Amino acid sequence: MQFRDLRKQYQVLKTEMDQAMVEVLESAGYISGRQVTELEEALARYVGVKHCITCANGTDALTLALMSWGIGEGDAVFVPDFTFFSSAETVAYEGAVPVFTDILEDTFNMDPDSLERAVRAVLAEGKLTPKAVVTVDLFGLPADHDRIRQIADRYGLYILEDAAQGFGGTCQGRRAGSFGDIATTSFFPAKPLGCYGDGGAVFTDSDDWAALIRSLRIHGKGSDKYDNVRIGMNSRLDTLQAAVLLVKLKAFQKELADTDAMAEKYAEGLKDCVKVPVIPEGCGSGWAQYSILLRNGEERDRVQAYLKANDVPSMIYYQRGMHQQTAFAGYCLYGETFPVTEEVCSRVLSLPLSPYLTAEDQGKVIRLIREAVTGSGV
Ligand SMILES: *Cc1c(COP(=O)(O)O)cnc(C)c1O
Repeated sequence: MQFRDLRKQYQVLKTEMDQAMVEVLESAGYISGRQVTELEEALARYVGVKHCITCANGTDALTLALMSWGIGEGDAVFVPDFTFFSSAETVAYEGAVPVFTDILEDTFNMDPDSLERAVRAVLAEGKLTPKAVVTVDLFGLPADHDRIRQIADRYGLYILEDAAQGFGGTCQGRRAGSFGDIATTSFFPAKPLGCYGDGGAVFTDSDDWAALIRSLRIHGKGSDKYDNVRIGMNSRLDTLQAAVLLVKLKAFQKELADTDAMAEKYAEGLKDCVKVPVIPEGCGSGWAQYSILLRNGEERDRVQAYLKANDVPSMIYYQRGMHQQTAFAGYCLYGETFPVTEEVCSRVLSLPLSPYLTAEDQGKVIRLIREAVTGSGV
């Protein structure tokens, strides 16, 4: 059984995929080919924003967004403690300070109360200027952007939505990638919409930021790429990856519907013995991960070992919070504590999920977890 079955997906899309890739090879337009523009238009339409700018990966997408706002030394950027390293790494890389917030157990996303406390603590200290908040749509579910927007407005913060896992997620009829002032996503192969290598994108409604990011991603180009008007980076999406993504985007809604049905089945089969993901009314997940919570760390480790002994892969996203990462040792925590993140790190387990998981395999996962939790199979 695969944790996320990418090989099967290729087999299903093979005819169209091979044709799309050969077309790029024959055109020799390997960089900035017409598929890149076509993809950017299709992605902007899908997400429901004015501009999509593709780039080399989801980490660069975050960096490009921060650069376009001029975020750097002396600035504070608020980041949920429970996320992939990039969400905070890019802030520190730009010379600003990531300030961590706790999360909510039901959704795994940023706790708005913790955000507000952290902003006030930074203001009270008076050394850093609060500039932005990175809202992560963790495991596929959009963060609570209604409440976070109120706080952001109150303190004059930009919202940078890290939708690396959120692509396909929705709330109140809007799609992930449309909630931030700028949003980013990743096309790493295992993400909800993945390519065959690294890739990423930035989304925004702002003409000015979009123009700036288009310049920054190609060496700060002016009227052409040999006219360099600012310091930028080299972060483009290959034409081959754009061609792959155009094929995958066409299949995406059907895949998402299948994954959603599978998530429903997990919930039905497991909700009486483990804590299953809570999807708030009016929202939908893009199901980057299906993550359950066991009663405690001992039970989590026992369930994972039992799955492994029966050839079922599972993953722990994440083992530790950002404040516990060696790279952030010594960072000021502004009086915030992270009880929910620490608790979740010890109890969380992500299960095999992909549109191509068979009903039989999923049934096996459910049965094994029930056996391990009730003790009947161990
Ligand atoms: C994967 C991921 C990223 C980084 O994307 P890459 O394409 O691997 O650089 C950033 N943030 C989150 C939340 C992610 O899951």
